[in-house]
Amino acid sequence: MANTETTETREKSLNFLEEIIEESIAKGETRVQTRFPPEPNGYLHIGHAKSICINFGLARKYGGKCNLRFDDTNPVKEDTEYVDSIKRDIRWLGFDWAVERYASDYFDQLYAWAVELIKKGLAYVDDQTQEQIRETRGTVSVPGTPSPWRDRTVEENLDLFERMRRGEFADGEKVLRAKIDMAHPNMLFRDPIMYRIIHAEHHRTGDKWCIYPMYDYAHGQSDSIERITHSICTLEFDVHRPLYDWFIQALDIYPSHQYEFARLNLTYTMMSKRKLLKLVQEGAVMGWDDPRMPTICALRRKGYTPASVRNFAEMVGVAKRDNVIDLGKLEYCVREDLNKVAERRMAVLNPLKVVITNYEEGRRELFTAVNNPEDEAAGTRQVPFSRELYIERDDFMENPPKKFFRLCPGGEVRLRYAYLIKCEEVVKDAEGNITELRCTYDPESGHGSSSDGRRVKGVIHWVSAADAVEAEVRLFNPLFTKENPDDVEEGQTWEDNLNPESMVKIKGYLEPSLAEVPVGQAVQFERVGYFCPDTDSTPEHLVFNRTVTLKDSWAKINK
Ligand code: ATP
Ligand code: MG
Repeated sequence: MANTETTETREKSLNFLEEIIEESIAKGETRVQTRFPPEPNGYLHIGHAKSICINFGLARKYGGKCNLRFDDTNPVKEDTEYVDSIKRDIRWLGFDWAVERYASDYFDQLYAWAVELIKKGLAYVDDQTQEQIRETRGTVSVPGTPSPWRDRTVEENLDLFERMRRGEFADGEKVLRAKIDMAHPNMLFRDPIMYRIIHAEHHRTGDKWCIYPMYDYAHGQSDSIERITHSICTLEFDVHRPLYDWFIQALDIYPSHQYEFARLNLTYTMMSKRKLLKLVQEGAVMGWDDPRMPTICALRRKGYTPASVRNFAEMVGVAKRDNVIDLGKLEYCVREDLNKVAERRMAVLNPLKVVITNYEEGRRELFTAVNNPEDEAAGTRQVPFSRELYIERDDFMENPPKKFFRLCPGGEVRLRYAYLIKCEEVVKDAEGNITELRCTYDPESGHGSSSDGRRVKGVIHWVSAADAVEAEVRLFNPLFTKENPDDVEEGQTWEDNLNPESMVKIKGYLEPSLAEVPVGQAVQFERVGYFCPDTDSTPEHLVFNRTVTLKDSWAKINK
């Protein structure tokens, strides 16, 4: 009984892509070959991470292979800077590709196939501008108007296409179109453009080409060349699938198949590369890796672990219908992972000075602190203690409500790993602001014991004022104030929804060992959150990023 249930649960938990693959395996298909096909025109974001996890994950699960193929068919927008960042991000996520390919590797083959289509009477050179072509395409209910150049002879088309390639024409003067059906109900079939003229230097092929294939012509053929079995893409490409199949059939080449899943969308976030680029170019953020960006390099800079991103991709699953995922889920995943792997440290972000009046001036002790209660192997460290400390301002209340177990006048609290202290006097400035607490400590209470066995409920963190290292601490909040940044009032744009408080810089006081943490490695500031040294951090000026809070405070504020 129990066994059947487990089997059923396992079967049910297959996502639809796994089901498709298992069906094809059952029918005798022996290979799983996927590919991840980014256009190198920007940095990868969390949506791409989802696609990477699916493509590389399926290949891994079914003993197959996944290629990395750069879809570099538009020389104007693409750059090797992006190629390098994409490779780094995929490796960081924990995946490696079978082969690295570029659509531009196939330009010769794609050209030869275009010639073949011309010879079959399935493609022609059109002298209309792209504008005219768009205007004569018709609408869903009205058929398009055939181009006056549609019935050119094969010879003339071959000659013109060859001259397009040789650079005899200016940008936009001619295009190559597939000759399909100007009245087709699927608008994409109304003689789609296959090649356009762009006289621009390509980041790999230089000036060898001045004609470049369009996505619909290049993608399926590249898949076919690589003998991709499962060409997985996002839902908006489902209308392209019949055209994908049409080219493959017309050329009679390896029949790759396309499958679509829903794009990942996240609340308070924007996934459009075009808009992210705009934020970078306009200086609204510090760069592609600004920790507020949804890019993979930003998550890395912010202290996210690869496992947390993979777990998130797994948790949101593979959907067939578009939906928006709560940003809180991503934060949940990083919190879960860091709870297991991050070392604990003490740091005070909103300091209140405590002077322990019965502790000798100049005396210093070291207390042993546990690095990670979830992982014994992480060991312990020594934390310095002295007469003057900082505690968190919130850990003291002059007029506390019932059940406030932290420090208050006359009250006692445990300093984590160290003594019990009692607040004897509250010092204020002329305006009545609390500037200092004068306390006494119980010398018998070190290391968690107290002389008379009394127990206190509150345990607070602290740092020794003389030993603390100062750091700039950057607190990040969502980049946008609206769940859907595109939700705008009349006359406004999505940029009006940028959150002015997306980054708040404060000064923190850290226990000295925090100066040694490597850039990007998150630690838990006990009771405060997870933080990691930023790439801007130097020994002279430490900078820490908040990776994520300990609890989901944002959701509460906004509901
Ligand atoms: P552009 O906006 O420039 O077209 P894109 O976001 O579609 O870019 P590509 O580089 O073309 O980016 O995407 C590479 C792969 O990642 C594609 O297969 C694409 O479907 C997938 N992908 C892109 N965005 C998402 C997303 N939000 N969720 C899941 N997969 C995505
Ligand atoms: Mg794209």
